[in-house]
Amino acid sequence: VNTGSKPDISRVKSAELYEKSKTYFPGGVNSPVRAFKSVYGTPLFIEKGDGCYIWDVDGNQFIDFCGSWGPLILGHNNSKIREKVTEVMQNGMSFGAPTALENELAELIIKNNRFVEKIRFTSSGTEAVMSAIRLARGFTGRDKILKFEGCYHGHTDALLVKAGSGLVTFGETSSAGVPKSFAEETIVIPLNDTVAIEQAFAQFKDQIAAVIIEGIPANNGLIIQDEDYIHFLRKICTENNSLLIFDEVITGFRVGFEGAAAHYGVKPDIVTYGKIIGGGLPVGMYGASAEIMSQISPDGGVYQAGTLSGNPVAMAAGIATLTELNKSGFYKDLNNKTQDFVASIQRFATARNYKFKVFTVGSIFWFAFTDRDKIQSADDIDAGSMEKFKIMHRELLNRGIYLGPSGYEVGFVSAAHTKIELEKAKRAIFEALDLVF
Ligand code: PLP
Repeated sequence: VNTGSKPDISRVKSAELYEKSKTYFPGGVNSPVRAFKSVYGTPLFIEKGDGCYIWDVDGNQFIDFCGSWGPLILGHNNSKIREKVTEVMQNGMSFGAPTALENELAELIIKNNRFVEKIRFTSSGTEAVMSAIRLARGFTGRDKILKFEGCYHGHTDALLVKAGSGLVTFGETSSAGVPKSFAEETIVIPLNDTVAIEQAFAQFKDQIAAVIIEGIPANNGLIIQDEDYIHFLRKICTENNSLLIFDEVITGFRVGFEGAAAHYGVKPDIVTYGKIIGGGLPVGMYGASAEIMSQISPDGGVYQAGTLSGNPVAMAAGIATLTELNKSGFYKDLNNKTQDFVASIQRFATARNYKFKVFTVGSIFWFAFTDRDKIQSADDIDAGSMEKFKIMHRELLNRGIYLGPSGYEVGFVSAAHTKIELEKAKRAIFEALDLVF
């Protein structure tokens, strides 16, 4: 492979820090994908971010399309968020008691969202989903959960489960340390497959508490589902008295203020959010109708709590962020800008007959090395294509473009990306594609 057209970026200081971090943390990191295991070189240690740019400790500058894995829809170091957080911090960091800020963020969410009447804040997406699952089980009095192959919902035991062979399989854990008996309560089926879900409901009649799906699956590439399929999910859940949970940790406030639920026009029973609602600080949230949420303690018997839940500093970041997103035209501008960007990349690749597709919704995009027009289940992805991503990732870093370090991860455009950076990124992507193919 010709990677010689641009020299590799310097990683001297990153490499030094990585050697040290490996003595402290497993794999040298505090979350696995950061370790650059499936791309070239040692992980980059980031020093600062501003707008759509980040700088690493070696002074390399990048246009960032990872955005801290989604939260930074306004870009890095946004002045409105920074000012609000700084103001709130003057009064202390945490009280473990209610504050008006929680009401303020809740009001922003509930008054502008048709899908939740009551909510609870948590400190991560994982916690939000874990609590949503417990709530669904408590509300229905049933134990089984149905999830889809290729959907990631955080790292709780019941959801770290993948499918074996066959249409309807009891989960096989995909992490050591998850008891088999826990995984057995999780049914895993392929996405976009109506027969598989009908079989699951027939086989486990009156046992399935909830079906959980990512609003638009975006953790195993961007696996866009047919709209009909999402409506079918709604129908089959209702018919079986099972709850439909939309995990909108990525899609919530990303594809629009009301997330994938509004995108599809489907009303889930429980919704989880994370990432964007914390504006870069740790916040998660789950919500539902007042009736379902009445099951949560102290009103109901489903226990869920958190020392730092509703933390005032995190609430401040969320308020500043959602206030911007709620302004008229925000999503139209962001989504149009992204769609123009993506369309010209696709035109370039198509004109050269490259086996390359950009899948996209709103301001989310995913580079897929395939000639398929649609990728709708995890099985549609050719694992071998990840070698091509690896080359592309290296070439893009060498040209000042930062993508998340895995070919299964999606990219995000933020409000801070201007025409200038998108043009620069396009040129780099064209060059990288020419080197890959
Ligand atoms: N659900 C989805 C759809 C996610 O993408 C993620 C994280 O990427 C999670 C849940 C878990 O969120 P967190 O990493 O904040 O625990």
